[in-house]
Amino acid sequence: MAATILLVEDEPAIQELLAFNLAQSGYRAIQALDATSAMAHINRELPDLILLDWMLPDVSGVELARRLRADSRTRDIPLIMLTARSDERDKVIGLESGADDYLTKPFSPRELMARIRAVLRRRAPHATDETVSAGGLELSAATHRVSANGEAIDLGPTEFRLLHFFMTHSGRVYGRSQLLDQVWGDHVFVEERTVDVHIRRLRKALEPSGCDSLIQTGRGSGYRFSPD
Ligand code: CA
Repeated sequence: MAATILLVEDEPAIQELLAFNLAQSGYRAIQALDATSAMAHINRELPDLILLDWMLPDVSGVELARRLRADSRTRDIPLIMLTARSDERDKVIGLESGADDYLTKPFSPRELMARIRAVLRRRAPHATDETVSAGGLELSAATHRVSANGEAIDLGPTEFRLLHFFMTHSGRVYGRSQLLDQVWGDHVFVEERTVDVHIRRLRKALEPSGCDSLIQTGRGSGYRFSPD
């Protein structure tokens, strides 16, 4: 379950180098050469993280970051700014525009990967390989194993992703279109009732352990994972 990283960078050589390094580290890299194509991509599919160059040919990286932060659908996407500038003032502007971290070119691929891991761990734990546990459930993203009170549970790939998202975002109600964005990566081309189908399968798989009660139907239209 590789995290998807949207790479917005107008210099082809850097773009290729970064894409290569992301792929080597097991990420799925999506490349955009300007803000317009980045937005077109985001409108189709929410990435797990965005690497955003400061200087772009159409809309600046800072402006794009502000727009993403102003929209509830894109507000929570982790964002790392890349820039050739090194002065403190620019760094402050970058962080104030909503970036989670900031990297000055030239940087080593190793440092970039370390920053990506740190930001994902903090902002998007469902996109990392770490083991999570809650309410008697334990889920390992690295091995794709789930257990309830120590007993192994078989889940299909979508139910697995759904449970992973819930376990890393407990307590809050998520609507169907939010779940489509976060778990399927697509809020437009998948029907909302698909969510209900997979929730049903997930609850069924959790039923023997009694953990199905952790997945609650929220008021309004959505679902919540409630381990307490
Ligand atoms: Ca640039």
